[in-house]
Amino acid sequence: MKKYLQIICGLILCCTMLLTGCGQSGGQSSDTAANSKAEAKGQLTISMLDIDQGDAVLIQTGAKNILIDTGDDKYYEDGKKGKENTQLLIELQKLKIDHIDTLVMTHAHADHIGKADKVIAQYGVKELVYNGIPSTSRYFINALKAAKANGTQQVKVKAGDVLDFGNGVSFEIVSPSQSLIDEDTAAIKAKKKVDVNNESVVGRLTFGNFAMLFTGDAEGPVEKDMVASYGKKLKCQVLKAGHHGSKTSSTAEFLKLVQPESVVMSLGVNNQYGHPHEALLNRLQKQGIKNIYRTDVNGTITIVSDGSSYSITTEK
Ligand SMILES: [Zn+2]
Repeated sequence: MKKYLQIICGLILCCTMLLTGCGQSGGQSSDTAANSKAEAKGQLTISMLDIDQGDAVLIQTGAKNILIDTGDDKYYEDGKKGKENTQLLIELQKLKIDHIDTLVMTHAHADHIGKADKVIAQYGVKELVYNGIPSTSRYFINALKAAKANGTQQVKVKAGDVLDFGNGVSFEIVSPSQSLIDEDTAAIKAKKKVDVNNESVVGRLTFGNFAMLFTGDAEGPVEKDMVASYGKKLKCQVLKAGHHGSKTSSTAEFLKLVQPESVVMSLGVNNQYGHPHEALLNRLQKQGIKNIYRTDVNGTITIVSDGSSYSITTEK
């Protein structure tokens, strides 16, 4: 069953691709456009897991379990990395997760993909979604090795692609753009420095009338690109604040278009980076956003939607 839709190609091109097979990097083409807008079925549960400094978000659609990032492989203690961080595995156990269908790696930083190789091996991940940009990070290299060893399909995505998470849940990639991917891929090949945070896979999840934006560690410059490309289409009820509540993400211009009612962020207690930054909290306040949830204060944050309304509960 083919699962992915590239809306960027336009209707005619899409039809052509369906007939000929879409030769894009992920090797996936699509069901029909109608299927990507499938009716919301059952209940969607999104858990922003409390895994210390880093990101790990579990999405359960009833049809699939999707994990966006895996957190780090080490705890941060006194500004240094400490012992092995097994919190992700504990959290997944608590939620009785016995398999993960899709693992999305937003970008090649340890606090996002530190346990990717272990998750792929232990949870039988079928698809590994990432931006296709090469990296010298050992976590990234280990993740691709684990994917190969476990028969996990690699799906490379770019802005415009749509992933079908099942039961009417769609995940439209809004960043990185093909040009950013090309630019950074060339830079890495030339051994030049790139801004890995801005390579983050950013996706807008929709389920009926519910929408949430997953931002990875994307910062101001790519938020500007998303604003230019998507404008009001970025609007969501729930925003995952980019880069753990850093001041360089969730710019005023971006917030104005996303118009979130609720903002969630993942960060460690007393983290060495000073996340969330006061300037960001002030911007949220200025925008009139009162529903702010943080894993360092609230523990695991759970968002539940039936496709028409949503609710947020927290562990603490
Ligand atoms: Zn991060």
